[in-house]
Amino acid sequence: MIVQPNGTIGILGGGQLGRMLATAAAQLGLRTHIFCPDDRAPAFDVSSAATSASYDDETALTEFVNAVDVITYEFENVPAGAVAFLNTMNAIVRPGAKALQISQDRLLEKDFVNAIGAKTADYHAVDNLDSLNAGLAKVGRPAILKTRRLGYDGKGQTRITNEDSDISAAYQQAIKFAWAEVGAEPSILEAYVPFEREISIIAARGQNGDIQLYDPAENVHVDGILHTSSVPASISGRTAEKAKTVAGAMLNELDYVGVIGVEFFVLADGDVVVNEYAPRVHNSGHWTLDGCAVSQFEQHIRAVAGWPLALPHRHSDAVMQNLIGRDSDRWRELAAEQDTCIHLYGKCDARAGRKMGHVTRIAPKG
Ligand code: AMP
Repeated sequence: MIVQPNGTIGILGGGQLGRMLATAAAQLGLRTHIFCPDDRAPAFDVSSAATSASYDDETALTEFVNAVDVITYEFENVPAGAVAFLNTMNAIVRPGAKALQISQDRLLEKDFVNAIGAKTADYHAVDNLDSLNAGLAKVGRPAILKTRRLGYDGKGQTRITNEDSDISAAYQQAIKFAWAEVGAEPSILEAYVPFEREISIIAARGQNGDIQLYDPAENVHVDGILHTSSVPASISGRTAEKAKTVAGAMLNELDYVGVIGVEFFVLADGDVVVNEYAPRVHNSGHWTLDGCAVSQFEQHIRAVAGWPLALPHRHSDAVMQNLIGRDSDRWRELAAEQDTCIHLYGKCDARAGRKMGHVTRIAPKG
């Protein structure tokens, strides 16, 4: 199904990603309709229509389906019930339910990545203290315990270090503490990957199976939140090709339509290990707004609308830096910097840890 100019893309979620998707759609002569429970969502400012309702409001969802040509989403935790309801209405949702379902559960995600022959950290499913102990015996220490569902930006996870011996009271206490930290929820224990750097690939697959991959970005996280994404990444051509091959295989296996963000750890020998994927536009792809002719946002809209994908040519070197919390108070100073593109998301309340905007510093491609 192809959405013609003046057609409407429905977007579930109204955060900054929805806002940047809606802006890109408008540039292509497409309308957007945002569905989001928050009645002051950043995407509402720039969309043609908005519904402020809960994801289990079937009347509102029905009206939404009837008002749009195709539906996409800007966050991966769209409730399964909403997806099932949209399915009963034969709504077209891109990317599809499979990509969403797998990405919502870290265990399914790790199984999926291994099944296509790519590498992940060693892992073990954890449902109680016994399976946590069994997992530690299997993956070793240090390790990271993460909730299977609803984790993001380093939330819902805790580290278990290799101090203390297995049998000491302090160690047993640390394990109980870790289990409490993840809310005693079904979790996954991952071996700590001794990575040299982190990279991500932003890639897109069109309705006709065409795949386009942006240059890998090198990512630095602070307190579990993305701090900077830089292109080019300091990696070899071989490492870049390995990561691109994995991202392409994931897109094909998921029969995906839209943009995906795949995060990797790069090991000292140049090999790549998948951390996770996001079935949506991704924070580490924001540099494409200012570093490429066609951004990840436009590419996603093109894909879900059934348009041809663009070649993801990069014209500039770029360093994207997130503005978290009060960082955005510096907007005036940042706006005065040369070759710095400033993006603010229109959020009123600069809470600690909240993504308020980003800047991208560009230079001619080196
Ligand atoms: P996540 O929310 O799973 O993407 O984790 C946030 C960040 O924590 C990652 O970008 C890494 O910097 C770090 N991290 C997560 N899992 C691991 C792991 N298994 N080994 C090493 N570092 C990790």
